[in-house]
Amino acid sequence: MVFSDKERKERRRKYWREYYKKNTKKISEKNRKYRIANPEKEREKQRKWAKKNPEKIRERKRRYHATEKGRETNRIYTEKWRKKNPERWREIDKKSRHKNYERNLEKQRKSYQDDPERHRAYARESSRKRRLENPEKIRQQARDWYHENLEKERKRSKKYREKNPEKTRIRHRKYYESESGREYINKWRADNPETIKAYGRKYRKKNPRATTEITQLYRRSHRVCEWSSCDRDSAEVHHILPQFKYPEYMDGDYHGRIGNNLICYCLFHHHAWHYAYATNRNNKKHKKLLSFMWNKVKRWANDNKIPIEDLEIELELMFIKKHTTKK
Ligand SMILES: [Zn+2]
Repeated sequence: MVFSDKERKERRRKYWREYYKKNTKKISEKNRKYRIANPEKEREKQRKWAKKNPEKIRERKRRYHATEKGRETNRIYTEKWRKKNPERWREIDKKSRHKNYERNLEKQRKSYQDDPERHRAYARESSRKRRLENPEKIRQQARDWYHENLEKERKRSKKYREKNPEKTRIRHRKYYESESGREYINKWRADNPETIKAYGRKYRKKNPRATTEITQLYRRSHRVCEWSSCDRDSAEVHHILPQFKYPEYMDGDYHGRIGNNLICYCLFHHHAWHYAYATNRNNKKHKKLLSFMWNKVKRWANDNKIPIEDLEIELELMFIKKHTTKK
């Protein structure tokens, strides 16, 4: 019997199939041993197969990554890859964030609504860290932001001042008493003479007679402070019945007598008189005057080399005496 090539091939295949069916276990065991003995060859074979069957490979991977174990493997792999390729990773991340901007924003919003306290704590912590790491940069950023958002900043600071008047007063006082604060005021005064004049006009309109001819005349004839046992030069003419309460006696004449509503005090005793009013009667109008007058006293003390502490003590003693006799 003579077979053609084709027939011979067919017969061999058939024989092989039958042999395989009968000896499946034996063959697969043999194959397994071979693979272990020849890892290089096995790998080469797999590579070739993969190159030939990309679709199948993809499908396998997809199925594997859908399992719990696959996800974990993928996570570890991704982490390693990112560490190895930081530049590339940053690029991809940036692109993806840009692409999913809206979605991410929505996610963030939701997460914030779910637990705002956690977000706030995180923000506080990270801002604290940044400030510690690079204080100068943060300061510069704040300055830049301030200059770019002047309008906003003005509104914010106005709101704060309205909410915290006491703190604001303290802060302002501290500043104006400081070296740089005084310098700033003096410069501002020199640069804005018109505004200063306008303030003066406004003040005199509200408080007529600041220095009228009558008070000037009175002062010229009363050169020494009229506070009992004070012999300092008089400096200011004072209305015994306060002008804001009794404007009708502003010109100094009371009940038909001339100049009897006026009295001349040195700066210190003029202040002391208003201090007494403000303290004992808790009078707001007098209180308002006090810091203005005390500043004048300070300047005068400074010019005359009188220690301001002595005046402070004198002021305290004056009122201690008064308080103790009251009891
Ligand atoms: Zn005096």
